[in-house]
Amino acid sequence: MISTEALGKDLQKLIGKEKVRTSTSWRLSYAYDGTPTGYKGVPDVVVFPESTEDISKILSYANERGIPVYPRGAGSGLTGGAAPLEGGIVVSTEKMNRILEIDEDNLGVLTEPGVVTYDLQKEVEKRGLFYPPDPSSYKYSTIGGNIAENAGGPRCVKYGVTKDYVMQLEVVFADGTVSKVGSKAVKSVAGYNLKDLIVGSEGTLAFITKAYLKLIPKPEAVRTAMAIFPKVEQAAQAVADMFKAKVIPTACEFLDKNSIVAVENYAKIGLPTYAEGLLVIEVDGYEAVVDELINRAVQVCKKAGATEIRTASDESEREAIWMARRAVSPAIVQLKPKKINEDVVVPRSRIPDLIKGVYEIAKKYDLMVVNFGHAGDGNIHVNFMYEPHEEEKVHRAVREVFEFTISLEGSISGEHGIGWMKKEFLPLEVGKALEKMKAVKRALDPNNILNPGKIFDL
Ligand SMILES: Cc1cc2nc3c(=O)[nH]c(=O)nc-3n(C[C@H](O)[C@H](O)[C@H](O)COP(=O)(O)OP(=O)(O)OC[C@H]3O[C@@H](n4cnc5c(N)ncnc54)[C@H](O)[C@@H]3O)c2cc1C
Repeated sequence: MISTEALGKDLQKLIGKEKVRTSTSWRLSYAYDGTPTGYKGVPDVVVFPESTEDISKILSYANERGIPVYPRGAGSGLTGGAAPLEGGIVVSTEKMNRILEIDEDNLGVLTEPGVVTYDLQKEVEKRGLFYPPDPSSYKYSTIGGNIAENAGGPRCVKYGVTKDYVMQLEVVFADGTVSKVGSKAVKSVAGYNLKDLIVGSEGTLAFITKAYLKLIPKPEAVRTAMAIFPKVEQAAQAVADMFKAKVIPTACEFLDKNSIVAVENYAKIGLPTYAEGLLVIEVDGYEAVVDELINRAVQVCKKAGATEIRTASDESEREAIWMARRAVSPAIVQLKPKKINEDVVVPRSRIPDLIKGVYEIAKKYDLMVVNFGHAGDGNIHVNFMYEPHEEEKVHRAVREVFEFTISLEGSISGEHGIGWMKKEFLPLEVGKALEKMKAVKRALDPNNILNPGKIFDL
């Protein structure tokens, strides 16, 4: 085992003194990500490379010595993906934060991985272009982290998730080899699709050093509405009915009663606390069609039982409607000392079954549950709120939620990934394919240095 001091010195020689941090305060600060359960291990060293070349040097050095490397963007992940487990080197992309080219001829953008998603969106919007993936963490999470997690967000109902916008990546493999995967051309079937294998691989197969992302024209107009339902099953049914009626909103976000009450207590924005379900619906497109689109979505909600509809007539009213959804995460942490946030996803028509089943599981284990999220994608954040002594009970409830989700032909993670937190549950969903995933990992990273202990143990 190499000491922190010796490792720090070697890395300083390789990439420069100012890019390497070894003090306890730096190492502790980079031991966490957004996972509420806290940290597992402390890195030996934290480095801030500024180029692909720096990363290639770090990886080939670490690979020769079997030292773990943990790629890190903003550290907003919710499954422990960027958190080190056993010493090693945290490689932060904070200093690789330049947008390199906005390619207006081909509707694309070439970017470094440490660019914050919101910054990229604002920059391309200045040219009338649009980068749709919008994880709720978009104001601080990075493009590299979004790609490594295949992040989704409210707008993904209409526009798809991060993978749908990644055309080409520059990556560094575990042995330090720099390579491009994918193509800037709209089509390419040359060889295996390594690009899509790396998207969503949570930093376990390659380090992303550049990304060429697809852009689309910025929609001309937006309309936003809030629909309020006395019964939760009416809201769930409205989501399923919307797609059956062939209305595809840009976003369709759901809050259950516990979310509504928590937000109202926290933000005092006039939400009706009698309601058991609330949908935030947004449509976009040409000015000529958006009124008709939102009207169709509203009609579906009314038919499903909505008793109140609020529509935004300007940007400040739109912001007020979105506030209901954005305030959920800060609001619910006030409810109990601990929470576990899952992000199960089911085919949209099964949302009513999922919501009903989750409430039954919570009742069986006598736990408080808060459900909200990207219902238009079938993706619900199931949050168990609990006291520290209830840990074991929560664990059993979570397993049951996962088993139930899989029985509805859904997935245990729609967007947060597996990290270290959910790896014990992965076999429930992927079965025998797990061994094939491990074979891919061994082929690309034979010394298991890239984010070891994440997704599965080898
Ligand atoms: C309040 C809140 C709301 C959220 N909402 C959403 C949401 O709506 N949708 C959603 O999908 N997620 C959401 N998330 C989760 C998280 O923000 C996303 O997973 C995001 O994509 C992580 O980006 P990051 O830059 O913080 O990455 P990090 O947390 O730093 O890293 C995430 C993973 O990516 C890997 N990684 C990072 N950079 C690279 C790179 N350059 N090369 C290779 N691997 C890399 C890391 O090793 C790690 O495994 C939310 C989180 C919070 C705290």
